[in-house]
This record gives sequence, C-alpha cells and structure tokens, in this order.
Amino acid sequence: MTRPEVSSRGPDAPPGRIDPVNTYRDPAARGGVLRTVGTRERRSHLSAPRVPTVGIDIGGTKVMAGVVDADGTILEKIRTETPDKSKSPKVVEDTIVELVLDLSDRHDVHAVGIGAAGWVDADRARVLFAPHLAWRNEPLRDALQDRLAVPVMVDNDANTAAWAEWRFGAGRGEDHLVMITLGTGIGGAILEDGKVKRGKYGVAGEFGHMQVVPGGHRCPCGNRGCWEQYSSGNALVREARELAAADSPVAYEIIERVKGNIPEITGPLITELAREGDAMCVELLQDIGQWLGVGIANLAAALDPSCFVIGGGVSAADDLLIGPARDAFRRHLTGRGYRPEARITRAQLGPEAGMVGAADLARLVARRFRRANRRRVERYERYERYAQALRPGTHGRTSRTPEEPGS
Ligand SMILES: [Zn+2]
Repeated sequence: MTRPEVSSRGPDAPPGRIDPVNTYRDPAARGGVLRTVGTRERRSHLSAPRVPTVGIDIGGTKVMAGVVDADGTILEKIRTETPDKSKSPKVVEDTIVELVLDLSDRHDVHAVGIGAAGWVDADRARVLFAPHLAWRNEPLRDALQDRLAVPVMVDNDANTAAWAEWRFGAGRGEDHLVMITLGTGIGGAILEDGKVKRGKYGVAGEFGHMQVVPGGHRCPCGNRGCWEQYSSGNALVREARELAAADSPVAYEIIERVKGNIPEITGPLITELAREGDAMCVELLQDIGQWLGVGIANLAAALDPSCFVIGGGVSAADDLLIGPARDAFRRHLTGRGYRPEARITRAQLGPEAGMVGAADLARLVARRFRRANRRRVERYERYERYAQALRPGTHGRTSRTPEEPGS
C-alpha cells in the first residue's frame, strides 16, 4: 500500500521536495497565514509603548472609564449609566466618545481599549452580540477609531479582566490561567503563554453555558441545566428567595432582614449574613461553591491550567465560597492524586479589573506618534520664542529664553 501524496521533511524525505504544509518557504502563503493571525496580536506587552491609555468597561448597568498607566495604576476614573437596551448603538458610541474626550482634557490618550459584556469577533473589531445592549454585529472598533482618531481595541470584558489579573493581580507569573467571573451569570477567559485564547470565532470561554444538570433549571440562553444556573449570583439569589417564599424556618433571619419583602434579597445581603454566621446563607454559598468546584474540575480536565482566578461580585464571599469550591474540585478532579493540582484563588483587582485590562491591552495597539508629535510642537514653540527674542525691536516685550533650540 503506497501513499505517494504523503510528504514529510523528515530525514528520509526525497531531496528538493517542498512540504506543502510548510508555508514558511512561500512568501505569498506566509502572508496569508500571518494576516489571519491579526497584526494587533503580534506586539507583545513587553515591547508595547509605556504610555497611559484609556480603558472602558461596558457592563449591564454601568460604564466605567479610566486612564491607566503602564504599571496598571489608575490615574483617573469616571463612570456613568449604561444607555438603555432600547437605545440605538449610536447612543452607546456617543457615551464612549464623551467619556474619552472628558478624560483626554486632562490626560494624554494614546489608545482606547474597550471591554464589553458581549461577544467580540476574533479580529476584535465587531461586537457580534451583547445581551444588555443594542449591538448586533456592530463594527465598534472602526466607528470609534474614526471618531476618536486614536487606535481602538475591543474585547470581551472577561478577557480583559483575566488579562489584568495576569499582568497585575492574582494570576501574576502563571503561564496557564483560567479566569471565572461570577456575576449575575458566569463569564470566563483562557490565557496561555501570555495570550488570550479567543477561539476561531472569538467566543471561547463561555463556560457559563456548559450543561452540568441534564434537564435542569431553564437558562435565558435557551437551554436547560447550564452551569451558571447553579453557580452564580443569580443562582444564589434564586435559592434564597425560594426558601424565603416557602417561609422555611431556616430563612427567618433573612426574611426579618428584608422585612418580608422577598424581592429585596440580594447577593451582597446573603454574603453579609453568611459572614455574620447565618446558617442558611453559609449553606447557600457552600452549594454555589460546590457547583463552582465541579465546573472547575471539568475545566481542568479540558484545559489543565496551573491557576483558576475567581472574580466577579460573588467572589466577595471569599473563603465561604472558595473553600467549598476547592473541596469539590479535589473530589471531582480526573486522575486526582496522580497529577499536580491547579491553584484556585480569588481575583485581586476587584471591579476595576475589566477596565485596567482593557487599557493595558490597548497599549498593544497604542502608537508613540502623539507624544512624538507633541515634542515636535514643543520644540518648535521653544525655537519660536528664541527666534523672537533675537529679533530686533522685540527685546522690550519678550525676554530671551535661556534654553537653546532643539535641546
Ligand atoms: Zn445557558
């Protein structure tokens, strides 16, 4: 049985044959391959210009914008309400432009990074879908770039938060990191060797909709039994309200706290009561934590990272949540006892992570030209002053400047 098509460049390959897979020898093919990688990904954060950039986090209720320097320090932060879902994409765009212009009054803005709660395509140019906004296949990057006249980067907010935790927070020094954000749902991101893994179409890391319970709770995504129906802020509040509505004796404390008004039961209140030692709230967080651990064990089976960073509002419960998650993780991990276990840790950067990460990722597309341009203008102005001081008849009005032109 012969297979003449097979060509490998192993030691026994016939001389002079070009491996069709090895596009490196063919400049045209190489160009094609590199184009699909995307020019924006080629620059590493190590060689990116150390200039301040603006990061914007667009969530379901708030838009947060801030100027962040190359060390992840927030120089200034402003926030506003997210425009209503019924408003046109143009209104959201206007909000972003207003925030950036406001900040650029006081800061030198070299690039803008956007972390949006939605699906962003692999080229990071379009928002494919955002559950809280009117964006449907919206060419956000190009639209903003035209209006702001600086480079713009658009990414998913979980990706930007993971990037921030890897660069400046709980995931520093980890080559293989998975971030899980527990908010109303579950967001996720995968970082490998200093790169965000986005998948072919840009929507990798949607862990929240992995099915963990066949035929379980209905999820707004259309399926049943999604992970985020068991391990998220929504799940926590749903369970607490169910117990309170059933007038369960274990829920007396929380019913009293909200004076019988069950819709007032929120995630932060449950966390607060759990910290005070309320048995039901501790148990609810344990349940959420256990489901979290089960999901993490599944992710470890698929991705084998060295570290899981748990962020989002629910992570404020800290060890009340992460303790049970660690236990469940160890119980469900494939091949437990025969493999190194990934670290599970709480995120460090808090609600600003998405914004800081967006700003830092924007530095990868930032250009130095604005600062260079400003220096040229300054030099010209200095020269002008100098030249004017030398001009006859102006000595009375302008004093000679001490510095030399072009210094
Ligand atoms: Zn779902």
